[in-house]
Amino acid sequence: MRTPDLSADVADVLVTAADIQTKVAELGATLSRDYAGRELTLVSVLKGALPFMADLMRQITIPVQIDLMEVSSYGGASTETSGLVRILKDLSSSIDGRDVLIVEDIIDTGLTLNYLMRYLRGKNPRSLKICALLDKPARRLVEIDIDYRGFTIPDRFVVGYGLDYGEFYRNLPFIGVLRPEVYGES
Ligand code: 5GP
Repeated sequence: MRTPDLSADVADVLVTAADIQTKVAELGATLSRDYAGRELTLVSVLKGALPFMADLMRQITIPVQIDLMEVSSYGGASTETSGLVRILKDLSSSIDGRDVLIVEDIIDTGLTLNYLMRYLRGKNPRSLKICALLDKPARRLVEIDIDYRGFTIPDRFVVGYGLDYGEFYRNLPFIGVLRPEVYGES
């Protein structure tokens, strides 16, 4: 893959950094209200959800614990899902009896979340809900109930705020789309 040019490669900004921060603050306030009087375990899925998790947890005013999982659904620089989900890193603590919220970057086909929900339900949490920053409903293959949603976006392959193309562009502070030539040059 060629060396990315972070500013020149971006064709469109879909969600600005300011809009992300406003939405994350709203979600944090809603979660703090909905889970008031309880403790919440945030389970985030690396690597894409890392900035969202880091920002969201600081907008929540009730006691939280965090845990991190890593799963793989795409290989390399591909923009197509394989439908195959592998756990690369499992939870480090038990979630038995706990209120758990999965913090995800984006729900596309839904295959990753569908697998993860079944896997985590098997670990006997008291409750299990989903908070996703981005929802791309056009490509959904399995039905997913998203309890907390940031933005609904069109069917385009996006990068930034944790999301990558070929492992790059995760550090862009906004959600954007790359120039078509860039996707073709890997
Ligand atoms: P799903 O299993 O819902 O199809 O895909 C979930 C995962 O695929 C996300 O966590 C993310 O890693 C990746 N993904 C889906 N759509 C996009 C996209 O538009 N851009 C990027 N960079 N990754 C995506």
